[in-house]
Amino acid sequence: MQIVWFKRDLRVSDHAALMLAAQQGQVLLLYILEPELWQQPDLSNRHYLFLKDCLYELNSALTTLGVPLTLRVGDAVSVLESLRKELDVKGLWSHQETWNGWTFERDKRVKNWALQADIPWHEPTQNGVIRRLSDRDGWAKRWYQIMSKPCYAIPSALVGRHLENDTLPTAESLGLAEDGCEQRQLGGMHHAQQLLDSFLHQRGMIYTKEMSSPVTAFDSCSRLSPHLAFGTVSIREVFQAVEFRTADIKHEAYGTKSLWRSAMRSFSGRLRWHCHFMQKLEDEPRIEFENMHSAYNDVRDPDSNQSYFEAWKTGHTGFPMIDACMRALIATGWINFRMRAMLMSFASYQLWLDWRAPALHLARLFTDYEPGIHYSQVQMQSGTTGINSIRIYNPIKQGIDQDPNGDFIRQWIPELANMPTQYIHQPWTRPSLMNGYPGPIVDEAMARKAAASQLYPLRKATYHRQEAEKIVKKHASRKQSAAKRKAKAETKTALTQGELLF
Ligand SMILES: Cc1cc2nc3c(=O)[nH]c(=O)nc-3n(C[C@H](O)[C@H](O)[C@H](O)COP(=O)(O)OP(=O)(O)OC[C@H]3O[C@@H](n4cnc5c(N)ncnc54)[C@H](O)[C@@H]3O)c2cc1C
Repeated sequence: MQIVWFKRDLRVSDHAALMLAAQQGQVLLLYILEPELWQQPDLSNRHYLFLKDCLYELNSALTTLGVPLTLRVGDAVSVLESLRKELDVKGLWSHQETWNGWTFERDKRVKNWALQADIPWHEPTQNGVIRRLSDRDGWAKRWYQIMSKPCYAIPSALVGRHLENDTLPTAESLGLAEDGCEQRQLGGMHHAQQLLDSFLHQRGMIYTKEMSSPVTAFDSCSRLSPHLAFGTVSIREVFQAVEFRTADIKHEAYGTKSLWRSAMRSFSGRLRWHCHFMQKLEDEPRIEFENMHSAYNDVRDPDSNQSYFEAWKTGHTGFPMIDACMRALIATGWINFRMRAMLMSFASYQLWLDWRAPALHLARLFTDYEPGIHYSQVQMQSGTTGINSIRIYNPIKQGIDQDPNGDFIRQWIPELANMPTQYIHQPWTRPSLMNGYPGPIVDEAMARKAAASQLYPLRKATYHRQEAEKIVKKHASRKQSAAKRKAKAETKTALTQGELLF
């Protein structure tokens, strides 16, 4: 009997572990619901609801193929050990997982168990993240090679055993409080395929232009992120669908060809970023907990500014664009990249909060929470990588640029529903119409300057540069495009100034 352990790969197509195990003969298809994982501070009710959607659909697809999913609740090692006692287990199959610190430690325990039980644990890859990578040279080339390999087909039929299922716990019994995600995305392979198709053929045409504004991004971005995070579709399937679509663009009408080409190019690049950022956590798991660059270790006090943190968390900072984005995120589980960056930057710079507590708050709110991307981005937007330029977003300017008419703000901040457009980005200039909406909790310009004045001098120190050079060697992208060559030239200058662009 081969055990296929489903983790963050809740699909049947392009599933190396499933296909390779099935080729050996009988399979037991296992999902382990680990209550301790769900008690970690980065997990939330919305993740659990999405997971449940995925498990229901996965089970019905596997049942059709001949062997339903066996659900067990408990500690992974205990579950595997009890199965070993019950079955003649010849092998354990699961995809390599680059997830949070808790799953990293759990996998070490499973590895020990497998060694002691003399059961080979096969861990094929399911994305472009490379384990035990010595450095980043040639990484992008290897990523393209992995993405260009044929996808694994859905097994035509499965043979094996199904054991009695444990009962799936309720969210409440796992300690997951209701978190107000009233407009949540639905999980499951079927929804992933629908999103991919509609993005590639309808919604994605103006992706490049519309991705930055939350007014348009909800429709114009692919919205595949939670599906990639839970593995209802593989990144290779998405990459190959984009390649296929790109080859087909020549049949588009004259006026739309270039829009589609630009959209597909930008989108495909982001699929690579997905793995590029996850690779950082794979190579250095400590970045979930510690500053990438040690120069920033004592810069912010983790316990300070609690009232600012509360205002930021709930969307009551008095800065309409910040609050609208936070409230939209609470209700939908998603916000676009630029607004995520702005939220994080505002917490780290203007509110001068240590990134760890805000990062956990966002992790719980993002249905697509993917630790490798998340912590790398959080640190980038907080200025603690030491290798990226410091970018402090001005929330008033972002509001004017990305929501010029204030539609998004009015949608999410009902208090400002009647605020005229000319005041919507700075409502404190029209106090009589604020309708209970708070005034700004900080002087934005002064807070921005104060943050910059604390950080820039650090970057000039020799020791800063020395450590930054090591971080570049370990983590920075090597891809050579015209844009990259330009960035490299800028980098050279930046390095001499003690900072580096991505
Ligand atoms: C502070 C911060 C935290 C973030 N945390 C996460 C997270 O936990 N999970 C997550 O999936 N993304 C995260 N992102 C990256 C990005 O915002 C989301 O991937 C994107 O908004 C998801 O929406 P989409 O699927 O419609 O993206 P699309 O624009 O349609 O892109 C398609 C896919 O490309 C990948 N991608 C897109 N942008 C990026 C990026 N900047 N970096 C890495 N991969 C990218 C994602 O897998 C995404 O699903 C974070 C960004 C910031 C600034």
